[in-house]
Formats: sequence, structure tokens, C-alpha cells
Amino acid sequence: MADCIFCKIIAGEIPSDKVYEDEDILAFRDIQPQAKVHVLVVPKSHFATLAEMDEEQAELVRKCMVKIPEIAKSLGLSNGYRLIINQGKDAGQTVHHLHIHILGGQDMGEKML
Ligand code: AMP
Repeated sequence: MADCIFCKIIAGEIPSDKVYEDEDILAFRDIQPQAKVHVLVVPKSHFATLAEMDEEQAELVRKCMVKIPEIAKSLGLSNGYRLIINQGKDAGQTVHHLHIHILGGQDMGEKML
């Protein structure tokens, strides 16, 4: 998608602090971290929300989920971490390319769930 910031990061048109990449997935540090460790895991196919994904994109989300424990381990998150996937306006989704937040590296304290 021409005007998608994450597509531009995936294409290498915008720099990112990559922590993992393969043919299907890119993971990079959030530019405005909300925890000591804050990484975004992004499927390389553009779609905004789970409601919009097709079967191939669902397979990419599965691959993200399978890869996340390995990424978390590489980030030193041995005490655990939180995953967040914002979906749409009420959730505060600001980048409309599906992404999974990994948050950790500290006691996450008060929490919604
Ligand atoms: P969300 O609110 O779930 O859509 O999250 C979007 C996230 O993308 C926010 O936490 C932003 O800080 C992050 N973000 C936006 N632009 C960039 C960028 N160029 N590099 C890394 N993270 C970014």
C-alpha cells in the first residue's frame, strides 16, 4: 500500500530498528516505546484488521504467533511479556497495517486484563 508507513518500512524505504526478519514477517522496535522493550511484529502482507484478512494472511498471522516466543527470547523477555493487537478506532489503532505489539522488560503493573 503506497501510503502505509509499515509497508514502507517493510520495503526498506523508511529505516527501522529490526529485531527479526524472514520472508513473511518483520519485527522492529516501536519508535515511541511504551515499555522498556516494545517491539512490533508485522506480517509483510498489507491488511488493517483481522476482519479484513484472507486465508493467506491468516496463515501469516499464525506464523507471527509461532515466531513470537523466539523473538521474545531473543529480546531477553524471560519473565514474560504482553501482546496487544489494536483493532480499529475504539482500540486506538493508528497504523492500519496489522501488527502485534510485544511489551515487556519490566513489571507491567496495573493492567486492563
Ligand atoms: P497502534 O496504535 O496499535 O496502531 O500502534 C502503532 C504503533 O506504531 C505505535 O506504537 C507507534 O509508535 C508505532 N510507529 C509508528 N511509526 C513508526 C515507525 N516509523 N517506526 C516504528 N514504530 C512506529
